[in-house]
Amino acid sequence: METVKFEELGLYPQLLRAIKEMGFEEATPIQSQAIPVVMSGVDVIGQAQTGTGKTASFGIPLLMKGDPNNRKTQAIVLSPTRELAIQSAEEIRKLAKYMHGIKVLPIYGGQDISRQIKALKGGATIIIGTPGRVMDHLRRKTIRCDYVNTIVLDEADEMLNMGFREDIETVLEYIPTEDRQTILFSATMPKAILEITKNYQKPDAKMIKVVKKELTVPKIEQYYLDVKRKDKIEVLTRLLDFYEPKLSLVFCNTKKMVDDLTEVLKGRGYFAEGLHGDMSQAQRDRVMKSFRSGKTDILIATDVAARGIDVDDVEAVFNYDIPQDDEYYVHRIGRTGRAGRTGRSFTFVKGKEVYKLKDIMRYCKTKILAMPVPSLNDVNQMKM
Ligand code: ADP
Ligand code: MG
Repeated sequence: METVKFEELGLYPQLLRAIKEMGFEEATPIQSQAIPVVMSGVDVIGQAQTGTGKTASFGIPLLMKGDPNNRKTQAIVLSPTRELAIQSAEEIRKLAKYMHGIKVLPIYGGQDISRQIKALKGGATIIIGTPGRVMDHLRRKTIRCDYVNTIVLDEADEMLNMGFREDIETVLEYIPTEDRQTILFSATMPKAILEITKNYQKPDAKMIKVVKKELTVPKIEQYYLDVKRKDKIEVLTRLLDFYEPKLSLVFCNTKKMVDDLTEVLKGRGYFAEGLHGDMSQAQRDRVMKSFRSGKTDILIATDVAARGIDVDDVEAVFNYDIPQDDEYYVHRIGRTGRAGRTGRSFTFVKGKEVYKLKDIMRYCKTKILAMPVPSLNDVNQMKM
């Protein structure tokens, strides 16, 4: 699909200046399609994969709409996790760098509420928060929505997965509907989301979908290795020793597998940490911080836990378990090879799983090459 240049979108010069500083050359496909429609004021349902720039797809229109002379809250963005709320707030704050008077504030569970109340009193044009905590502030009237004219449900599928449906609906009930623009972004569109859009968006809501073709991740080298279950750990450590990737992401299909593998790798002296949905927010924050800083260089995660996490220097993705869904494959390997960096992916398969690989190759229009397991000799030679 055609993409457009940001200069063609009729944005404020201050906004264009910030976008330029952020190094964005042109709008991504979802941004090209969604920004003009969101700016026109209608309700929007936007669907595109993780990593396609959905934050700016609503963030830029929010900044175009925001009134810098009004100190009251004008937009609320709901986000599934503290990590994502902070990440989105940072992105929108960067976009707002030259737009004086616009304040962006993340609000999430786990942080001391009195501190948040103080921050809110200082004024927040755009609030980005997790549903439970935003609801809490609405009840306490520490977030007031008299001037809120836009609500965004970001990563809507993820919020539903995490059981936030009721909280989201409660928040929506608080915001007056007449002038409300309701925007929803999601990587997938399960039925429950369409129900929300039907109940809470205007009948003329526009659906914008970036088609699957753009899911292909052609730039990275993709390999698969035929590995028996009991040999997986040995093969993984050989590959880690052979390639010595700066940061690696290892995907498992279950939380238990994440825990088990983390323990084994730590036991072998690797700087590995696990990430999955059973962990507390504080634990997840700690793990992500450590991974971003490179203190932990191997992150082992489930698909759900890794969604939306945005780290640039990942050089290798390991599919320790073959992904359960073709789309997951793309999500997973899309985490490496960003911004022109080298990236490699390694998928472990055994026996009949090779058929699943064929599916993935067809669906993603990509080649996954067979690779022999490196021998200990190879590893040693590489080290020398
Ligand atoms: P999504 O919400 O679709 O998963 P994000 O909004 O988190 O994606 O964006 C993913 C990454 O891409 C971020 O690092 C963001 O700064 C970057 N990005 C967004 N838009 C562009 C663009 N037009 N050009 C280059 N990078 C972009
Ligand atoms: Mg996002």
